[in-house]
Amino acid sequence: MKAGCRDLERVLQDAGADPELAAAFEQHEESCADCGRQLAEWRQVSTAARALRRSWDSPQLLGRIRQSLAEEGRRVQVLSEVVA
Ligand SMILES: [Zn+2]
Repeated sequence: MKAGCRDLERVLQDAGADPELAAAFEQHEESCADCGRQLAEWRQVSTAARALRRSWDSPQLLGRIRQSLAEEGRRVQVLSEVVA
C-alpha cells in the first residue's frame, strides 16, 4: 500500500481506523517535508489534548479545558483547509 499527500486528512482524522494506511503514510512522511510538518503539528495538538483529558477530574479546570479544546478545534479546521 502506498500513501500520498491526499491521504493526510484521512490519517489525521482517524489513524487508528486504518493502521495499514497509517503505516504507509509514515513512509510518505519521511520523503515529504510538507506532510511531515503538518503531522508534527498534529502530534503536538494530540499530545496536548491527551494531557488535558488527564486533568478532567479537576472541575476547576473545566473552563480552561473547554477553551483549549475550542482552540484545538480551530487548529484542526485550519489543518483541514491546508490539506483540501
Ligand atoms: Zn505529502
